[in-house]
Amino acid sequence: MVENLTVQLAERSYALSFGATLVEEIRAMVADLHSAGRKVVVLTDANLAAEQADFFPEAFVGCPRLVVEAGEGTKSLTVFGTVLDFLAAQKIDRGGVLIAVGGGVIGDLGGFAAAAYLRGIDFYQVPTTLLAMVDSSVGGKTGINLAAGKNLVGAFHQPQQVFIATSLLQSLPEREFAAGMAEVIKYGMLYDAALFAELEQNPLNVQSDSLSAVVRRCCEIKAKIVAEDERETAKEGGRALLNLGHTFGHAIEQVAGYGVYLHGEAIGIGLAAAARLSQKLGHLTEADVQRIEAMITAHQLPVRVREPMALDDLMNAVALDKKVRAGLPRFVVMTAIGTTITKSDVESAMAEACFREIGAV
Ligand code: NAD
Repeated sequence: MVENLTVQLAERSYALSFGATLVEEIRAMVADLHSAGRKVVVLTDANLAAEQADFFPEAFVGCPRLVVEAGEGTKSLTVFGTVLDFLAAQKIDRGGVLIAVGGGVIGDLGGFAAAAYLRGIDFYQVPTTLLAMVDSSVGGKTGINLAAGKNLVGAFHQPQQVFIATSLLQSLPEREFAAGMAEVIKYGMLYDAALFAELEQNPLNVQSDSLSAVVRRCCEIKAKIVAEDERETAKEGGRALLNLGHTFGHAIEQVAGYGVYLHGEAIGIGLAAAARLSQKLGHLTEADVQRIEAMITAHQLPVRVREPMALDDLMNAVALDKKVRAGLPRFVVMTAIGTTITKSDVESAMAEACFREIGAV
């Protein structure tokens, strides 16, 4: 059964469609586009092309496909150029359509290529990692990395529709599933105490009966927050709340060297640090922090860095974070499990203490 949820963004509104496989729905969508005379191309990565070899000919009938290397390195200027050249070679015009089939890397890269090519063509997302299903495919942030840092070039470009087919997760490596769980846990911590309690009772894995319901709940939360603050311009709260744990996590990812921790692993540690910050500010109890750490650990994610990391380097990374406003880093803080605020006046000493507690020296 297919269920739909609308991301409410006025004329840029779109549906998130949930189901086990969605092959028929995608094939019908492609057929409709073709019969309207529109060219449709697919972007994916080599792992997906191999792991889901049957999915492509079944769902994307008659669509030329570009297969790029898997991994974060693909969100580069070079591969971005390759995608644009492919669109041009396929003679994609303003009516052409790109479908990004993959994890956050393919969604971000494909979305940005669709935003830039001919100043914007339509694109669809078929997320295939847990992280992409609950987070990156929803909300229209697209982009690539520069040598100077992650996600430094990009655009807001909302998809036309997102097809969230949870059976695709069956081939996802366990470590990648765990990394996606960091974002799932984040939604419970920031917005939904009931979701947090449910995951506490029944840790989620790819076989869980509740998997599709949990994915859908996360998308509902993200859709609601994005609808209220599409471009993250709210002075307080808003879309920035989705960055719970990310100021710490991005610093860990960057200082360790990209690829040492998966994004979700760094966010797991970042969520533990954010819990400690919330405790130091007087909002959470030690028991809350313990609950949060137990939840992260139960989902095979770290709550401490694996090797000691230099505190100065981590604090420098925080200072350079994209979310710095008027020189002050903004942290997202829980006022209780399930409610959050943004906070710009966190003293450095307090942030340093949090970093020490997760293993910085
Ligand atoms: P990813 O796209 O690199 O995918 C992880 C790995 O899993 C890759 O090796 C991929 O080939 C493989 N894979 C994907 N689906 C598979 C499947 N079904 N079966 C087998 N293997 C599969 O990583 P990710 O974690 O999905 O995304 C991370 C990226 O998302 C980062 O670049 C991050 O910046 C971005 N991101 C963007 C947003 C946003 O709002 N746009 C939000 C969060 C993260």
